[in-house]
Amino acid sequence: MDLEVGSVQEEALEQVARAQSLPELEQVRVAYLGRKGKLTQLLRQMGELPPEERPRRGAQVNEAKRRVEEALEARRRELAQAEEERRLAAERLDVTLPGWRPALGHRHPVSLAMDEILRFFTGLGYEAVEGPEVETDYYNFEALNIPPDHPARDMQDTFYLQGELLLRTHTSPGQIHTMEACRPPVRVVVPGRVYRRDADATHSPMFHQVEGLLVDRRVTLGDLKGTLIAFVRAIFGQDRKVRFRPSYFPFTEPSAEMDVACWVCDGAGCRLCGGEGWIEILGCGMVHPRVLEMVGYDPQEVSGFAFGMGVERVAMLKYAVSDIRLFFENDQRFLASFPAYLVEPPQPGSPTLQEEVGA
Ligand SMILES: [Zn+2]
Repeated sequence: MDLEVGSVQEEALEQVARAQSLPELEQVRVAYLGRKGKLTQLLRQMGELPPEERPRRGAQVNEAKRRVEEALEARRRELAQAEEERRLAAERLDVTLPGWRPALGHRHPVSLAMDEILRFFTGLGYEAVEGPEVETDYYNFEALNIPPDHPARDMQDTFYLQGELLLRTHTSPGQIHTMEACRPPVRVVVPGRVYRRDADATHSPMFHQVEGLLVDRRVTLGDLKGTLIAFVRAIFGQDRKVRFRPSYFPFTEPSAEMDVACWVCDGAGCRLCGGEGWIEILGCGMVHPRVLEMVGYDPQEVSGFAFGMGVERVAMLKYAVSDIRLFFENDQRFLASFPAYLVEPPQPGSPTLQEEVGA
């Protein structure tokens, strides 16, 4: 083989072997086999040779081209395979990597508090019933013995709709609906939304109440106290001291507010209880005879007690939440900070709530 052809072939094969990628390899191909490539040029230069040398030279160059083409093809396959392996390695699915855990929802603290309150009373045999949020003046006020000049009926306090209609200011109309619908004995709790024209850190224009009503023969103040003491202790702790303070509601007589000893300072006075040592939890009383008469019950035959509490207030006290508006801003960090239960769920084998209050 001519020295020239041989060295170009050597050079080409060396560069083919050194190419590290398909684009690099393509550059090598163009440099030797392209239109202006070195081997192509050698063929072109054959015209300058004496005719008798041309066939030999032609055969040599063609042989060199064939070898370089073979080498290019072999290297191309090598590089393509290496590239494929790199791609597969980069895209490999690692099934041992930890997966994404979908975020679990969380019950709203007001729902939690509502459920705990209802669970206690339904455990005592109370039935949970709901009433309409749009009420008439009769059910919201008149039937509850609230006189026309009572401050609660003021436009400043109540959302009035058209005519006689208004947004209920308490769940107490549920008492009236229940008593109109059935004869004693009556045992109901009425959960629901109520509305008042009031908004600050401890008041919301919409909040939740639970109303309770029990009417039967020979129901006494002792029944009221026993039931509510058991309730408050179930929510705020079995050793909590409680007290009843005389109060006034138009639909109960006598009426009382129920306080529980502050669970932060145990009666010494602190920020939660406002230095009082006691925290007001709910209002209650014996159903006013006039309310019983309005629904057609005979106050000589039956008596009853009623109570009502703000659900947000119970949750605020239980969790030391200082601003009621936090419940309605739906900040996930706030909502997710509550435990799943307001009180521990009952354990198997523990005494039932009925046994605890001797019912
Ligand atoms: Zn306190």
